[in-house]
Amino acid sequence: MTRSKNKGVLMVVSGPAGVGKGTVCDAVALSCRDVFLSVSATSRKPREGEIEGVHYYFKTKEEFENMIKNKELIEYNRYVNGNYYGTPAAPIDQHLEKGESVILEIDVEGGKQIKKKRPDAVMVFVVPPSFMELERRLRGRATESEEDILARLERAKVEFELSAIYDYIVVNDTVENAAEKVKAIIAAEKCKTQRCIDEIRKNIQGGNL
Ligand code: 5GP
Repeated sequence: MTRSKNKGVLMVVSGPAGVGKGTVCDAVALSCRDVFLSVSATSRKPREGEIEGVHYYFKTKEEFENMIKNKELIEYNRYVNGNYYGTPAAPIDQHLEKGESVILEIDVEGGKQIKKKRPDAVMVFVVPPSFMELERRLRGRATESEEDILARLERAKVEFELSAIYDYIVVNDTVENAAEKVKAIIAAEKCKTQRCIDEIRKNIQGGNL
């Protein structure tokens, strides 16, 4: 059979702040050249070491609100601390059309918006081995104020409840294990009959099978 020209998998990865989902997604992208990590826009200030266009597109509140007005975002959310986060729409289909899988590392609210607009999206929720471990990781990061940490822990409880709409739960016990599971999910999703059947039919009709 000729090589499949199937589109890549659109995957949403969510999970509470501090669970390490960013590190897991980075590990997946590092070992898979055909996985693109979507770069979100945000109105929050860069943390030390964060690079424009790599970690986020850093925008002012006004710039972000213009992106919303111009419908440049496929989803967005505004947090209680007033910061906006959103996913630029254009790059998603550009990469999927090339056969690359696209990972959106976004919160549950954003995930719900994506699922509504793109029912084909594969939803993955990353959890820590325990809630205590999540608190330990958040405090270990030492980038947020105590107030921010407590707000993120409260939010994590709400997000755990909402994870029921997700297709898969991945425990981030070690980054390697979690990344392997995410890669396995992408591989399995690519094999789904509904994704392949049209291509197989075309091959049969074209005498390529
Ligand atoms: P942080 O400030 O730690 O980088 O991110 C805070 C939260 O924002 C994380 O839970 C992250 O998943 C979420 N987030 C990052 N980018 C986006 C986005 O484009 N859309 C939405 N809805 N959430 C996002």
